[in-house]
Amino acid sequence: MNTPFIRNHHYNLIKKQVGQLQHACNNGADPKVVEAVEFNALSHILDSFPETTDSQKHILEQFVGLRKTEEFQQYLFSLEPYLEEFSQVTGKQITKLFPKNKKLKTPDLNVMDRRKISYLGWVDIATQKLFLVYHLNGQTVGVQGRYTPANKGVCFLCNGIGDVALFSAITKSKPANASPDYYKAIGNYMCVDSHTCNQKITDVRVLEKFLQEVLY
Ligand SMILES: [Zn+2]
Repeated sequence: MNTPFIRNHHYNLIKKQVGQLQHACNNGADPKVVEAVEFNALSHILDSFPETTDSQKHILEQFVGLRKTEEFQQYLFSLEPYLEEFSQVTGKQITKLFPKNKKLKTPDLNVMDRRKISYLGWVDIATQKLFLVYHLNGQTVGVQGRYTPANKGVCFLCNGIGDVALFSAITKSKPANASPDYYKAIGNYMCVDSHTCNQKITDVRVLEKFLQEVLY
């Protein structure tokens, strides 16, 4: 029985790091350079798993010594049984997270590969709203905000450059002495297409910090 422990963003990070090593190998880089890239990749990957067991570490380290494209592909393939799924969220649960939205369209998780999802994100064009659902510290949370399409830019979640929109969410917390009409909005540019974003995100700390700021 393989216990899944590799989340989507981990897998993206591994693919990226191993891809860089593969690139160095394919371009006939000096063996010393290849070794340096390999060392760098290994430390980046292991750093993103602060709580691994020895056997998990062993699984992750299997790319060390590989030099051929098909070997790297085989390595990535060997990780698939360890990919951890994004926990199931039903349409009902999503509706509860956003009670003020009467005709909320919810994404269907059954048609998605939940191993390849870090967060759920979708846009309601009619109301110009963006919805985001994530499992934060064991709790399913949702944030909604205004969605304003922008030009090309850097996404705050995946750091990728592409079509972005300004996602502006209003925080729930208020300072103790705030006036009744006080509000604070947090705006960030993020990928228009959450599917693309989920394929690129390698770190969820920025997302988690953002959710903390908006929700608590
Ligand atoms: Zn993104």
